[in-house]
Formats: sequence, C-alpha cells, structure tokens
Amino acid sequence: MRPPGSPVTLEALRGEAAGCTRCPLSAGRTQVVFGVGNPTADLLFVGEGPGREEDLAGEPFVGRSGRLLDRLLREELGIDRSQCYIANVVKCRPPGNRDPEPLEIASCRPYLDRQVELIDPKVVVTLGNFAARTLLGTTEGIRTLRGRAYPFRGGQLVPTYHPAFALRSGGEIMAEMRADLVRAKRLLADHGRRLDAAAPAARPRSAT
Ligand code: URA
Repeated sequence: MRPPGSPVTLEALRGEAAGCTRCPLSAGRTQVVFGVGNPTADLLFVGEGPGREEDLAGEPFVGRSGRLLDRLLREELGIDRSQCYIANVVKCRPPGNRDPEPLEIASCRPYLDRQVELIDPKVVVTLGNFAARTLLGTTEGIRTLRGRAYPFRGGQLVPTYHPAFALRSGGEIMAEMRADLVRAKRLLADHGRRLDAAAPAARPRSAT
C-alpha cells in the first residue's frame, strides 16, 4: 500500500486519509477524524484519538475534553480553535474508547508526520502520554516529560496532560496544564521576537 507521504496540501492528505484502511480501526469508524483549524498555524495540538462524539462529528475534541481544551485555549492563550490546529495520533476511534494499540499508532503515523510537515508549526503541544511518546520517541510518562520544552523539527514541543486526565484530577494537574500552555505561549512569542530581530532594518526613506 502506498504510504501517505506524498500529498502536497492538508486537504489532499485529508482526502487520502478519508478512505484509509491501513489498520483494523477503519472497520469500526463512522468517519476519519483528520483534524481541525488553521492549516498554516504556528501552534499545533496533538491528542490521542477520537472518542464517540468526535467519531460522529468528524472533528477532534468536541466532547467534554474538547470543551475544557477550548476554555484553556481562550483563558491561557487568548485564541479559539480556528487560530491553531488540532489533530490526533490516531484518526479513527478505538472501540469503547480504549487506548490505541502500537500497530494502530504505527499505521496512522505517516498521516501525523505529514500533517506536521505541511502545517510546519513553531510549537507543538502534545496532550497526554500517547502524543508525547509518539512524537518524542520515548516511553517516559507525561508526569516526567512535562514541565519543559523539547526541540522538535526546528521548533519546540511542549508536553502536557490530556484534558480528560485534567478533568478527572482537577486542582494541581489543571494548574500544571495551564502552566504548560503559558510555556507554549511564551515560546510562540519568543519565536516572533527572533523573527523580528532577524528581519533587515527598514531602509530610511530618501528625501525627495
Ligand atoms: N480525546 C482525544 O485524545 N482526542 C479527541 O479528539 C477527543 C478526545
């Protein structure tokens, strides 16, 4: 089967993913949940995989976890989901909302990698264990990984908790998740400042 490495736009990749049968999750899905948001966003969120509501809606993070994510985007970053991009490690719903299996993650990986290449974000925020482990290539848990940023494809990767875990845990975990988003916001601002500093100074206008 041809790997999904070639499409040159996110919409072409979405079209290719829509018919994907690379792993057994395709048999149980209502639809592929590819991603949502600005295809040239500086900020990309990567979650685990669609749940029941996402499978029905065709959009990531529209259930309870998504409502928390939307609130944190608004309160900590001052943006809504159209101003970033949101995707998942696996694009089809694992039955009963179980964890995605290694074969499913590996089968879907080329779609995620191509999404990252095409969006080319400055900052990637991973939500939960699966996204952080997949993109950082580690088996460490999120509690160990979070609290700092990691170099990632010329930008930065900020691991944080999955919103579902923050909803279950509340208090301290929620505060740490907010702090992680503030870290992402600062990294985006730093990136903007570095670009400004690198831009050639405007030439003085000559008198006429
Ligand atoms: N949890 C995820 O990881 N992704 C979704 O899209 C919804 C819930």
